[in-house]
Amino acid sequence: MSAIKEPSFRESVDLMFNRAVALMDLPPGLEEKIRVCNATYTVRFGVRLRGEIKTFTGYRSVHSEHMEPVKGGIRFATSVNQDEVEALAALMTYKCALVEAPFGGSKGGLCIDPREYDEHELERVTRRFAYELAKRDLIHPSQNVPAPDMGTGEREMAWIADQYARMNTTDINARACVTGKPLNAGGISGRVEATGRGVQYALREFFRDPRDSEKAGLSGGLDGKRVIVQGLGNVGYHAAKFLSDEDGAIIVGIIERDGALVNPSGLDVDAVQQWLAKHGGIADYPDATHHAEGGAILEEECDILIPAALEGVINISNAARVKAPLIIEAANGPVTAGADEILRKKGTVIIPDMYANAGGVTVSYFEWVKNLSHIRFGRMQRRQEEARHQLVVDELEKISEAMGPQYSLTDRFKQKYLRGADELELVRSGLDDTMRIAYQSMRDVWHDRADVEDLRTAAYLVSIDKVAASYRAKGL
Ligand code: GLU
Repeated sequence: MSAIKEPSFRESVDLMFNRAVALMDLPPGLEEKIRVCNATYTVRFGVRLRGEIKTFTGYRSVHSEHMEPVKGGIRFATSVNQDEVEALAALMTYKCALVEAPFGGSKGGLCIDPREYDEHELERVTRRFAYELAKRDLIHPSQNVPAPDMGTGEREMAWIADQYARMNTTDINARACVTGKPLNAGGISGRVEATGRGVQYALREFFRDPRDSEKAGLSGGLDGKRVIVQGLGNVGYHAAKFLSDEDGAIIVGIIERDGALVNPSGLDVDAVQQWLAKHGGIADYPDATHHAEGGAILEEECDILIPAALEGVINISNAARVKAPLIIEAANGPVTAGADEILRKKGTVIIPDMYANAGGVTVSYFEWVKNLSHIRFGRMQRRQEEARHQLVVDELEKISEAMGPQYSLTDRFKQKYLRGADELELVRSGLDDTMRIAYQSMRDVWHDRADVEDLRTAAYLVSIDKVAASYRAKGL
């Protein structure tokens, strides 16, 4: 361990924020107003479990209400604390601004190890936590809309939605009180894969401009790029799967709780994930070399490093040894402010968390809109679109018949062209568009401003500018 003290997660976010605002011309006081967390609520409640009363501590922090509702996940982990939820809430503000999701930033957490409880117990704890938050309007369709985060998923969101609906029996928009719900409880297609999908779209956009990949000393596209992923949870799994299945990237390393798997010719992401689900670890997975000291693999040779687990995993004690020329922060805060400085000096390109993992909240936004409009995306136009395409195909077929058999339309073309978009396709298209536009806004700042060295500062500049504009418009 280095002798220099690492700042806390929230201090790290503040330091990065400060670096960016130093390059801006904000009116006095507004900078401070944007930086600070507006409120953090701590709730302590008892639940009778296994014959005794257990007291749990939870938080919901609201960073900025320049737009409402405020948005951000709820995390279940023993490490949850006020500093962490405040840092994560601040990141949500910047993330939503950057991808133009019309929300302020919030985050919640419950100190609990979900693996210690059975499903029934977890349901009681989650419902009680939701009750405590909802009765204070910290869960509310127009004020505060949680979503999944580490340790939570569709199941917990369904319990929260149901708890809110029980407490607000006449609220026609009750389902919009939380996102990340299962499809049958008001969810949207593509939300589970969304954050990993967003990481894929982010990387595709990065490699679209050779000036960007050159900055990382890379060339070409994603095909054949060697990738190391840390954390095979929802985000890491989907990112790794899509990159290898659809873009030809080679997953050479996967780091998990019980060590890392390495295979230079590529790991089968689905096989590793199935092994992990079945055995609770990756240690004995057959088609790779297992390293008990998983963290060391963060320092291995590769083209792209994807930290997709906890915050602070790349810090001042290991940053200098990280060899990847490109890091994409699929997790929130995986690179500390100290490590960021070391890596920046080395020329490592970092695609920052507030952009890289924004796919989750982007599709949450679509889900919230779907809940408020009470209709599935594509329901009105899909068949009409198909009918109009059929007209075009019929006309083309008439012409091609007259021109001869070599001009006939291929079945593949007809199949692809005739099919109207369903909800999943529309969600992916909206997500792709969002990730491209947000990246382009960072890219412009990165390339055009001589005083902006890195994508993180560019991301902060774009998002703080938007938050500041909202405050100004409100007359603050
Ligand atoms: N927890 C996710 C995040 O950190 C998703 C938040 C949301 O969908 O509101 O971005």
